[in-house]
Amino acid sequence: MLLSDLLPHTLREAPAEAEVPSHRLMIRAGLIRRHAAGIYSWLPIGLRVLRKAERIVREEMERIGAVELLMPCVQPAELWHESGRWQKYGPELLRMTDRREREFCFGPTHEEIITDLIRNVVSSHRQLPLTLFQIQTKFRDEVRPRFGIMRAREFLMKDAYSFHLDEDTLAETYTRMREAYERILERIGLDYRVVEADNGAIGGNSSHEFHVLADAGEDTIVYAPQGQYAANLELARAQAPEGERPAPGAELEHVPTPNARTIPEVAKLLKIPAERCVKTLIVQGSEAAAVALVLRGDHELNHIKAARLAEVASPLVLLDAEAVEALGGLKFGSIGPVGLEMPVIADRDAAILSDFCCGANKPGEHYIGVNWDRDVDEPAVADLRLAREGDTSPDGQGTLAFARGIEVGHVFELGTRYSEAMGAVAQDDHGAERPLSMGCYGFGVSRVVAAAIEQSHDKRGIIWPAAIAPFDILVVPVGHGRSADMLGAAERLHDELEQAGFEVVLDDRALRPGVMFKDAELLGIPHRLVLSERSLEQGMVEYRARTAESNEDIPRERIADFLRERMHPPE
Ligand code: ATP
Ligand code: MG
Repeated sequence: MLLSDLLPHTLREAPAEAEVPSHRLMIRAGLIRRHAAGIYSWLPIGLRVLRKAERIVREEMERIGAVELLMPCVQPAELWHESGRWQKYGPELLRMTDRREREFCFGPTHEEIITDLIRNVVSSHRQLPLTLFQIQTKFRDEVRPRFGIMRAREFLMKDAYSFHLDEDTLAETYTRMREAYERILERIGLDYRVVEADNGAIGGNSSHEFHVLADAGEDTIVYAPQGQYAANLELARAQAPEGERPAPGAELEHVPTPNARTIPEVAKLLKIPAERCVKTLIVQGSEAAAVALVLRGDHELNHIKAARLAEVASPLVLLDAEAVEALGGLKFGSIGPVGLEMPVIADRDAAILSDFCCGANKPGEHYIGVNWDRDVDEPAVADLRLAREGDTSPDGQGTLAFARGIEVGHVFELGTRYSEAMGAVAQDDHGAERPLSMGCYGFGVSRVVAAAIEQSHDKRGIIWPAAIAPFDILVVPVGHGRSADMLGAAERLHDELEQAGFEVVLDDRALRPGVMFKDAELLGIPHRLVLSERSLEQGMVEYRARTAESNEDIPRERIADFLRERMHPPE
C-alpha cells in the first residue's frame, strides 16, 4: 500500500488535553481524531490496528465455541424497564426519543437485548449451553471521558453472553472465557494480571477483571509478586490481624484536645501512635438512618467493601457535617464509638485494639484508654479497610504490592438476575421450566489498542507489538523526488514483499528524509527498510527494527528471507 493513500496525518505536537502517552501518540501518529468529548474517528492506519485486535478477539471467541451475532445499538426502553435498569443506570445511559415519543437508549451493554432474544428463541435444555458474542459500538455518557479512546464515550466492545440450565456448565464456560482472554492478551503481547473484581451494579457471583499493567491505568491492582493473589484495590481483602485482643491495661480517661481534629493532630498532641487511635465514620444505613464504621487511625476505609455490608446503604453514602450534627450534635473531628447510639461496625484491626484513643462525641474532647466490651459494646466486626502495600497477602503467600492497571476485560457470572426479571426460561430434562443462568463477558477492543501503546512506546513514538501492528514493514525511499529509479526500485521491493505475504506500506510522500524517519518512528511499524542512492548502488537495503538503535545493510536479494527469519525466528 502507498502511505499517501492512507490519509497520513502526523503532528509534531499533541493537543494540550492529551495527558497520557497513548492518547498523545495516537493523535500525533494520526490514528484517531476527536470530534467531541470521548467521540473519535479512526483514520485508515488506526483502523487497521483496531481490526487486528478485533480479529484476535474473534478468533479466540470462536476457538472456545462462542458464536457471533449482531444486536442493535439502539435499544427500546421497555426492555430496560423490565430489568429495572432504566432507573438504576443513571446518566451514563444515553436516552433518546423517536418521532412517536417512544423512548430508547444507545446500548452501553446488551444484557436486556440478549435476554429478550433468548427468551423468544430458546425453550429447551437441548439448545443449551449457548455462548454468543458480538463486536460492536457501545455508548456510555462517561462523567469524565479522557485519555482518548481509552475512556471514550463511544467505543468498541466485544460482549459475550452465555446461557445455562445448570451451574456446572456456567462455571465451565466462565473458565474457558477466562482462558480465552488470557490467550488474547498473550497473543497481543501484553503484560497483564487477572484480578478478583467487584461485580458492581450488574450483581451476581464470580467476577474477574483483566488489567494491562501501565502507569496510566486508572485502577490500582493489588497483587502478591511471589504468590497467586491479585485483586482490584476496590475489593482486595485485607490481611486479618493475628492473635487475640490484649486485656484492658488502662483506665478510661477523658482528655481535652482543643484544635486537634485529625488523627495525626490528635496522635501528636496526646503522644499516642496513630495505630492506637480509631477513627469513626458515619454512613447511611440500609435500615438505620446512620451506621458508625470504626477503623484504626492509620487505615483507610474501602468504600466498596463497606457498601457490601448488609447494614450499610449501597452505594456508600458518607453523611456530611450537617447530617452528622443532626444525630445529637455530633461534630467531625471528635466522633467515637463510646456512647454512640447507632449500630457500630469495626474493622478487624480496630476491633483487636485495647487501650485505644477515640473521639468523645464532644468538640475538642477525646477518650484514651478505651476498651471494647468494658467501655463500649462489642462491635460487629468486618473487613473494612483498604489493603496496603507490604501487607501480608490474604492467602498468606508473600506480601502485597500495588500496580496501576488498565481494565481491558471483565467476566461475570450473572446467575438468574436478568432471566428472572425478564422471564427467560427453558425446560430442563424433566420438563420443568426454569430460569436460565447467565454469564456475561466484556472486552474493550478499542481500549486494548491504547493499552498496548501504554506498554510499548518510547519518546520517539509507538512500538507496535507485531500482532496488532498496522503493517509489518515500512519501505522508505530517500531522495526519490530526484530519481525515478529510486521510486521504481522501492515499488519493486514493496510488491515483492507483498507477494511474499508481508503487509507492506511504501512511504511515497516526497518528503525530506528526516521527516520520513521521524514519522516512521512515530508510526511504530516494526520493520523499516530504507533505500538510498548509496544502498542501491551497492545492491543493499538498510534495515532497522523499530526497537534497534542502528541500521544493518542487507543484500537486496536476501531481504525477504531475512525478514521472514526476523519475524518468525526458528524455535
Ligand atoms: P470501567 O471500570 O473502566 O469504567 P466498566 O467496568 O464500566 O469499565 P464493563 O462494563 O466491564 O466496563 O465493560 C467491559 C469492557 O469495556 C471493559 O473491561 C473495558 O475494557 C471496556 N470499556 C468500558 N468502558 C469503556 C470506555 N468508556 N471506553 C473504552 N472502553 C471501555
Ligand atoms: Mg468492569
